[in-house]
Amino acid sequence: MNIVLFGAPGAGKGAQAERIASVYGMVHLSTGEMLRSAISLGSDLGVKAEEIINRGELISDDIIVKIVDARIDEDDCVKGVILDGFPRTVAQAEALDEMLAGKGLSLDHVIEIEVDEPALFARIENRASERRRTGTTRSDDSAEILRRRLAVYHENSAPLLPYYRAKGLLRSVDGMASINGVAAQIDNLLG
Ligand code: ADP
Repeated sequence: MNIVLFGAPGAGKGAQAERIASVYGMVHLSTGEMLRSAISLGSDLGVKAEEIINRGELISDDIIVKIVDARIDEDDCVKGVILDGFPRTVAQAEALDEMLAGKGLSLDHVIEIEVDEPALFARIENRASERRRTGTTRSDDSAEILRRRLAVYHENSAPLLPYYRAKGLLRSVDGMASINGVAAQIDNLLG
């Protein structure tokens, strides 16, 4: 089973993806995490990505698609993957379709975690202040960058909703419920 978890920054994709991965024995593939680990390793990719991420902009489609393609080929992905943070543009979604087809695979579900934007903003800011308190800040945590990331989401990622709706793959859950409440809705969808 291959799943895309979709939603605005701060919708809670990461927490849900972790849980689905452990319950269903799938691999959680977060492009944001992959980029942050490249940055901390100081790899060529990390050096290129850091400045772009810190502006709240997107890494180029080509680069991201190559990283995901290579990762899906690794042995641990045979049971399926939960994509979190990818695809983020229609071009990435098209590349994903092609990539999966080339491997004899396909997408089973696209799950949208729907959130109310003002509430989302409050949530992301709380999370950032919690990270500041515990010394685990992400460099893209500031309010200004968050606003930019939300704008980038509307411009580039929201068009994925009609894209997947037209393919009959899109399912939505209420992301304003508790973490367990969202998890229960996802379990329902996955049967
Ligand atoms: P969140 O889940 O909070 O929205 P992520 O951890 O998924 O954030 O991503 C952090 C940053 O990494 C993004 O703002 C973007 O700069 C970059 N990034 C992650 N995934 C992609 C992608 N699929 N395409 C382009 N850039 C990406």
